Amino acid sequence: MENIAEINQHLLRFSPDALIVVNDRHQICFANETTFELFGYVAADLIGQPLEVLVPERLRSRHGDYVSAFMRNPSNREMGVRAADLMARRQDGTEFPAGIRLSSFNVKGRTYVAAAIRDITESRRISEQLIAAHEEADRANRAKSRFLATASHDLRQPLQAVRLLNGSLLKIAQDAEVKDLIEQQSDAIDGMARLLNALLDISRLESGSVEPQHAQVYLNDLFGELRAEFEPVARARELQLHIDHSEVTLRTDPMLLHQLLENVLGNAIKYTDTGRIDLHCEMKPDELFIAVVDSGIGIPEDKIARIFDEYYQVDIHGARRAGVGLGLAIVREVARVLGYSIKVTSQVGVGTQVVIRIPAQAVIADATRGSVTAPMEASNTAVEHRPRLVLIEDNDGVRRATELFLQLEGFEISSGSAAADVDRLLEKPCGDEVLIVDFHLDGANTGIDVVRSIRARSQLEIPAIVMSGDLPAALRTLKEPLARSRFLSKPVVIGDLLVAIQELANP
Ligand code: ADP
Repeated sequence: MENIAEINQHLLRFSPDALIVVNDRHQICFANETTFELFGYVAADLIGQPLEVLVPERLRSRHGDYVSAFMRNPSNREMGVRAADLMARRQDGTEFPAGIRLSSFNVKGRTYVAAAIRDITESRRISEQLIAAHEEADRANRAKSRFLATASHDLRQPLQAVRLLNGSLLKIAQDAEVKDLIEQQSDAIDGMARLLNALLDISRLESGSVEPQHAQVYLNDLFGELRAEFEPVARARELQLHIDHSEVTLRTDPMLLHQLLENVLGNAIKYTDTGRIDLHCEMKPDELFIAVVDSGIGIPEDKIARIFDEYYQVDIHGARRAGVGLGLAIVREVARVLGYSIKVTSQVGVGTQVVIRIPAQAVIADATRGSVTAPMEASNTAVEHRPRLVLIEDNDGVRRATELFLQLEGFEISSGSAAADVDRLLEKPCGDEVLIVDFHLDGANTGIDVVRSIRARSQLEIPAIVMSGDLPAALRTLKEPLARSRFLSKPVVIGDLLVAIQELANP
């Protein structure tokens, strides 16, 4: 049978941690033998000394406050969990990072504090390495996002040129077989543009550079835009699309919320072969619910958690459809930026429901009704009246391709590559011109500056189309709305360009 009393005594003397007890006057009244290994003091020499001898001088006043506070409110706890710089001082004056656990007890009405102290040089080194590795990974991730953003942005220019050249080819091709090939090429270009847009969106969102631009958004207006966008698609797929009317006005970022709902609705239509898609909106006591319900192919239960990952696509019955697996990653990031939550429930072969929950604080009671977004409705009517076009675009390839395409469409067009060219090209405007400008021009002026300056000089509200590879960024620079204008995202869909010209020229 072991001698427990003897074991206790040895444990106290040679415990793995140095043990020190201080009284209510902060004097050391007990120190075990391990203290020598750690601090270089013989235990007996420490008795009666102020606790501060074990603390580096520069930290002593803070340390005294801490011990007093602990005495007032004692509990068994780690000392200075938040103070990563907890240091102890050896007899020879050197210092070491210390991990200290405290507990307290009373003897005859007096409070004592016991401290178990260890040298945590090694574990601190490891945690510093971990923090450094984490920061490095963060940096690499930001660099990746920046690279993606830059690459996808710069790829837009040549893609824009290719798209316009393709449009020109289609216009002049006579042979049915050649036309068919060009149309296939056109589909491939559209796919590439979709991928670029999604890459740019996700990299901007993930890099943390997207700040929501809040405004009052009347949901009926936003829903109207979505209806205009998706009704033709649903009709083409013989699906019924119902989008609720809602009198709610929200304080939100209109473009981000549009982007979120656009992706969810787009998926609902894409992954539904028969039946219907409904967008419901319901005000609950502390949340606004927007639910998109489809009668589509559904998502297997075990895959739902993964569909918000980048590039993840469920391969159900070979049902991968046009898409790159970034839509829901964008939805996830937009919801994060806006502070909304998203829940997906689904049953294979029955359908999917995506619920977006918006905190009630975002709902504006008594809002004055008004739209902040300018819906651009597509129309198929042919261009009735051909205004003279003036193009300012600093990328040679894009400028030539745009000119060629618009000439083939029957327009008279003149162009320049710098902001200042507009004065020459529109020296004597007659009020029948449409200005097409790139937003990012070489030099200090943006396309918006060009529009404003020529309008101020000519005293005419010359209609303008502003094209940008990063439309959200361009729109953010707008301090006040630009009247008689359209903003188009590069690579521009050529039908949209023609519609914009037509709408501006025939108001
Ligand atoms: P994708 O570009 O492939 O549509 P998303 O990120 O938008 O990428 O969606 C990821 C995957 O989630 C899709 O590939 C699809 O398998 C699945 N999914 C998303 N929405 C639906 C839906 N409404 N019905 C069925 N499957 C869906």
